[in-house]
Amino acid sequence: MYCPFCNAPDTKVMDTRLSNDGDQVRRRRECQVCVARFTTFEQAELDMPRVVKREGVRVPFSEEKLRLSMLKALEKRPVSTEQIEEQIRLILKSLRLCGEKEMSSQQLGEWVMGALLVLDEVAYVRFASVYHSFGDLDAFKREIQRLKDKRGNSEI
Ligand SMILES: [Zn+2]
Repeated sequence: MYCPFCNAPDTKVMDTRLSNDGDQVRRRRECQVCVARFTTFEQAELDMPRVVKREGVRVPFSEEKLRLSMLKALEKRPVSTEQIEEQIRLILKSLRLCGEKEMSSQQLGEWVMGALLVLDEVAYVRFASVYHSFGDLDAFKREIQRLKDKRGNSEI
């Protein structure tokens, strides 16, 4: 691997370790010319399923879109970047492991809601209200009730 600082063709691996539950290899490298140190990550590249939208249109899965929609729901909420990235990582892992070639945007939306529910209730309700495009206040109230029921169950 070329040195990203001086482009020297030879860099030496100083340290190798597993991260992210073992699905990623992290290597600490040192350039033999400029002695700069940097880290590389290695991960199996598995095909992500395509996303089938409501109208039947197929689109490639976009991690960037996923991140943006979650960040939008989490705007100005007290949730750390690390927490958000961890949830995104879990969703990506589920996607890779599901073994399907296609996945409905609805299923993906459910996963995002599950992740947001873990992170922040307000973000969850924000996302759910856009996602379900609540036409009226009653539908919105039902979702709040669903959230409350879920919480009630998890406390038992
Ligand atoms: Zn270098």
